[in-house]
Amino acid sequence: LFETAPPPWELAVQDDIATAKVVFSEAPHGPYDYRIPDDMRDVLEAGMRVRVPLGRRRQPTTGWCVETKMGSAASRTLKDIAELVDQDPLCDPPLVRLVLWMSHYYQAPAGQVFDALIPSSVRSGAGTRERTYFTPNTSLIDDAVIEGLPKKQQAVLRFLIAAARPMTSSQLMVEAACTSGPIKSLEKKNLVRLETRREMATAAPMRWNLGDGEVEKSHSLTDDQSNALQRIVAAVDSEKGKTLLLHGVTGSGKTEVYIRAIEHLVKFGRSAIVLVPEISLTPQTRGRFERRFNSVAVLHSQMTPAERHFQWQRIRTGDVQVVVGPRSAVFAPLPHLGMIILDEEHDGSFKQDTTPRYHARKVAHARAMSLGVPLVLGSATPSMESWHACTTGHAELVPMPSRVGNRPMPDVQLVDLRVRDDRTSGSISRPLHRAVEETLRDPGGQVILLLNRRGFATTIQCPSCGHVVACPDCDMPLTHHRDGGKAVCHYCDYTIATPPWCPACRFDGIRYGGLGTQRLEVEVKARFPDARIARMDSDTMKRPGSHQRVLSAFRSGEVDILLGTQMIAKGLDFPNVLLVGVINADGALHFPDFRASERTFQLVTQVAGRTGRGDRGGRVVVQTFTPEHPAIQAASRHDYEQFATEEMVNRRKFNYPPLGSVGRIIIRGAVEDVTEATAESLLGRLEAARNQLGHEVRILGPAPPPISKLRGKYRFHILLQSVEASHLGDTIRRAVETFTIPEKDDVQYVIDIDPMDM
Ligand code: ADP
Repeated sequence: LFETAPPPWELAVQDDIATAKVVFSEAPHGPYDYRIPDDMRDVLEAGMRVRVPLGRRRQPTTGWCVETKMGSAASRTLKDIAELVDQDPLCDPPLVRLVLWMSHYYQAPAGQVFDALIPSSVRSGAGTRERTYFTPNTSLIDDAVIEGLPKKQQAVLRFLIAAARPMTSSQLMVEAACTSGPIKSLEKKNLVRLETRREMATAAPMRWNLGDGEVEKSHSLTDDQSNALQRIVAAVDSEKGKTLLLHGVTGSGKTEVYIRAIEHLVKFGRSAIVLVPEISLTPQTRGRFERRFNSVAVLHSQMTPAERHFQWQRIRTGDVQVVVGPRSAVFAPLPHLGMIILDEEHDGSFKQDTTPRYHARKVAHARAMSLGVPLVLGSATPSMESWHACTTGHAELVPMPSRVGNRPMPDVQLVDLRVRDDRTSGSISRPLHRAVEETLRDPGGQVILLLNRRGFATTIQCPSCGHVVACPDCDMPLTHHRDGGKAVCHYCDYTIATPPWCPACRFDGIRYGGLGTQRLEVEVKARFPDARIARMDSDTMKRPGSHQRVLSAFRSGEVDILLGTQMIAKGLDFPNVLLVGVINADGALHFPDFRASERTFQLVTQVAGRTGRGDRGGRVVVQTFTPEHPAIQAASRHDYEQFATEEMVNRRKFNYPPLGSVGRIIIRGAVEDVTEATAESLLGRLEAARNQLGHEVRILGPAPPPISKLRGKYRFHILLQSVEASHLGDTIRRAVETFTIPEKDDVQYVIDIDPMDM
């Protein structure tokens, strides 16, 4: 009886109570209900932050209100909201719904999703200040009152009444030509009301237009472009949510299509988001949008907090037609959003690798469909996910098979590194060496060389005892960097001076093995002493603006050979690049990851697409130990469909994405066996949850992942696979609901739904 009948005070239900649902960053579950005090009733809305008591904490905790309900019948025992943090919502209701969906799908606390959605500069009010405004206190003012005031106060008050808008004291002093004295007197007599507002400190804390004054020529569209444009315009006009995949070969002119489609949209007062990989936010791309639209907001990682906040406010007030930015721009709060575009939709940077581990394509899809607007995906090498969506009728395929000006695709020559004749002592084969020489002889001819490893040497090993110098925190081999003689861990940045002798056996003569971009640079300089060479990788691109400097030197012909990591494979459009060389196409193939082939195909195809963009044609030399590999074969023939068809057969064998869903749980801790034991017990929970739910989910592990130790923490992972994404999600949710780890164990786990790395 005691258990079924609640104590009488909890039964007392009050009908006219107002309640709010609140979510937190700290609490994984929720939302939790709170009572809205009467004085907040008319102000509180979903999308605002509030401070409320949570659990046993002494101080109120900040949470996000996701719903308010007036006149609900709720228990009187609900706790009260203590305080409002925001005066206006930071999120409109569709974005609040998007947060709740992301929180559910990615199994991340909703408060943390809000934190990803609303930039920290906005949450902290960066670049703002408080200003006090005066308005006449009409309830105390009549003609007699005004007549009775000293002349100066009379003048100020009459001015304020005539102005019919709130004014700050400095505005009043300038416009009514007075001193601060009469204003203060009116304030003392309570004849003016004061209102404090938080506003941007300056009108524009940035130079937002990077347009270089060039006028973009409006091209007449190619047939492929007109067709693509028509299909997108039809989707816009149908006012239905729809996904289109622009499968356009490199150089087919996709950006021009995006621009025209947005031009169509802005005619009706609507706006668009264009998501690009961060690396594509070059002045080249920015300039193209900035020259064609009056009001563009470009979001990028080098903005100051005040600039970011300012742009966000501009976007929210409907001042912006186009937002261009990396993955987080998918949350841009445009009030009349009419389309979302993901350029280079296959790019790995669209997946966030911290909580919430969202993929911008998936979120863009959810947002576009909920608003009933088109989502346009563009790529020369679509992800298998998007390709599959087309073959199953979930997306419309829009092919753009020809390059602008009917330029041919470049010829690709595969160089088999196993053949003795082709090999030289260094990393550049004879055929590639010859091709570089020929290109440099051609007036103005430029070369791009791709090597997807930075540093000088990728292993530092003792030839006597075999010891490999490794990171103590990650167990991964350190990479030797020649500048400063450093050995660096590429996972955690742990850095030491490269040891001159073996730290294990003191043998004097340690060897540098493997090849990084620094070593390649040294070799290229020695082989082509007259060529002007620039290197582009994350080591040389640390300073703001360095990316831009190298690219403009390359554009203006001050550089003959540009070498670098995948940074140089993406998006660049330089007509004088007559040769692209891939130093080692197999680099990505041997990872224990079902996406290894896809990545290899993408990288080779994308970098090959950097040549043959002008009238002088172009060619590609790809060095590989496995020229027969299907991904390399297909890339050498620019044959995406063949690649995709074969790859889908492989994926189907194990129901790998896109044919099924994958989830990954990483368990990490400082003590190896405690971490493993935790992983084992989580596995037990997952199996029990699956069996209770009767779902078909394959659960593998726990096993050490390829990076089994990172930043001093041991790692184990559990992989889950299911044909049904919801079965996978439900199983994990059920398993972790009641799974707690004792604090003393110091073990954490991370859920990654649709992981991009294994
Ligand atoms: P993609 O993104 O498909 O690789 P881009 O949009 O970068 O291709 O276009 C490649 C180049 O062709 C750019 O320099 C662009 O200005 C130019 N271009 C695009 N459309 C046309 C056209 N219809 N006529 C002539 N040049 C064009």
